[in-house]
Amino acid sequence: MRLELRDVSKAYEGSRRVAALENIDVTIESGEFVCIIGPSGCGKSTLLSIIAGLEMPTSGAVVASGNRILMFQDGALFPWLNVRENVEFGLRFLPMRGERTQRAMQLLKLVHLDGFAEARIHELSGGMRQRVSLARAIAVDPAVLLLDEPFGALDAMTRSILHTELQEIWAQTRKTIVFVTHNVREAVVLGDRVLVMSPRPGRIVAEHRIDLPRPRVIDSPPVSALARTIGEEVMAHA
Ligand code: ADP
Repeated sequence: MRLELRDVSKAYEGSRRVAALENIDVTIESGEFVCIIGPSGCGKSTLLSIIAGLEMPTSGAVVASGNRILMFQDGALFPWLNVRENVEFGLRFLPMRGERTQRAMQLLKLVHLDGFAEARIHELSGGMRQRVSLARAIAVDPAVLLLDEPFGALDAMTRSILHTELQEIWAQTRKTIVFVTHNVREAVVLGDRVLVMSPRPGRIVAEHRIDLPRPRVIDSPPVSALARTIGEEVMAHA
C-alpha cells in the first residue's frame, strides 16, 4: 500500500512546547522497504506513531488506506500465553480455531520457530521473542509494517541473523515496511531507501536509494562503505 506524508508537523504541548517534527513530506511505495535514521530524540518514534494513526499530526496529513501495525524494541508478548497462542492472538479475526492454529504454524515456520510452538515466552532468547512478535504482527496481514528499533536490544550476532530473516520475510510477503533505527549500518542492510532525519525538530534532510544486491549482511565491505558515507552526513547535520 502506498503511503503519503504531506507536510506533517507535530508539536507536543506540555509544560513547554516541544516541536518534534517539521514539514515531513514523504511518499512510500507499496512493497517498499524504507529505513529512517536520525539521532535519538529527533522524532522517529513520533513519526511512526503518526503513520500508525496512534497520534495525530499538529498539521499536515497522512494519506493511507489499509491497516498498519507497529512493533517495538520490546515485542510486548503475553507471558501467560505460549508462542503459538501469542501468534494466534493476531489471528482473532479467523472464526475457526483449527484455521487459526494452522495459520499460526505457517507464520512460525516463516520466522523459523515452528519447533517452539508450545514453548513459554520466558524460555525464549531475546531474538526468538522478536521473531514471535514479528509473526504476530504479520498475522494481522497488515498493509504496512512499522518497526521501531525492533532489534535494538539484541546482541550483534543475533541482530545480524534477524537482518537476514527479515529480508527473507519481506521478499516472501512483499509488505511495505518502515523501519526506524539509529544504526546507519542496519539501515543500509535493510532499506531500499534510507531517509536521514535532522535533530529535533525532525526533518528529512537527505534520502539515499540503496541498490546493493540482497540478501545483504552488515559486515560486508559495500554496506560498510555506504554506511560510512551516510553516517558522516548524519553527523554533519547533528
Ligand atoms: P526518537 O524516536 O527519534 O528518539 P521521539 O519521537 O521519541 O524521538 O521524540 C521526539 C521528541 O518529542 C523528544 O524530544 C521527546 O521528548 C518528545 N516527545 C515524544 N513523545 C512525547 C509526548 N508524549 N509528550 C511530550 N513530548 C514528547
